[in-house]
Amino acid sequence: MNSTPTRIGMLGGTFDPVHLGHLRSAIEVREALKLDCLHMIPAPQPPLRGMPQVSPAQRLELLTLGIGDTPGVVADDRELRREGPSYSVDTLVELRQAYGDSARLVMIIGFDAFLRLAKWHNVNQIFSLAHLVVIARPGYSTSWPDALRELVGDREVDSVDELMLCPNGNVLTLALPSMMAISATYIRERLQQGKSVRYLLPEAVEEAILQHGLYHSHE
Ligand code: ATP
Repeated sequence: MNSTPTRIGMLGGTFDPVHLGHLRSAIEVREALKLDCLHMIPAPQPPLRGMPQVSPAQRLELLTLGIGDTPGVVADDRELRREGPSYSVDTLVELRQAYGDSARLVMIIGFDAFLRLAKWHNVNQIFSLAHLVVIARPGYSTSWPDALRELVGDREVDSVDELMLCPNGNVLTLALPSMMAISATYIRERLQQGKSVRYLLPEAVEEAILQHGLYHSHE
């Protein structure tokens, strides 16, 4: 039988907190790549920021609330359950094991994260496990620094069809229809100042944040 290989996406981040920039991108990237499932995977505690800290469990709860019943998108807590440092490569190894060799596995990152890619742990191993899709993000130039040109080499492809010809190893840049200039930093700053964050994140996430007094300094 000639079945179509499963298409799986991984969107990692701190999601501190999850916002509509993440969630709208998740839906649009899933549509563009025709993903069967997109795993949104919170990373363990981000470095101290001099702001009130929200626990990994709370970030996961907000992410789960934010995703709600969105079809084909799941909150995946595997990095939070891992002991010691958590690297994307380890997550990709697990997803590859779970979905098998022929699955099209795609790691999705925003352009700001892509700019730091050359510094990632075992970055070359990523390409032996997954494709990389880079999504444009307002406020970030889309020109590539030399280190990234070198890293990506001839892996770049021009279309989703070309990307999906094999299980891993290609790189595609995508401009999604709704680019949103929303960042978690902006949301945290507004919350700390007691300002409204309505329409920047899902209502259920806003309600939970306010109910638990998250991201707010309690002097
Ligand atoms: P912070 O402001 O705390 O750095 P963030 O808003 O950038 O957070 P992350 O959790 O770091 O959110 O992002 C997870 C992933 O989602 C990254 O690959 C990032 O580039 C991407 N991303 C975040 N916000 C947007 C957005 N508004 N549009 C497109 N991609 C985004």
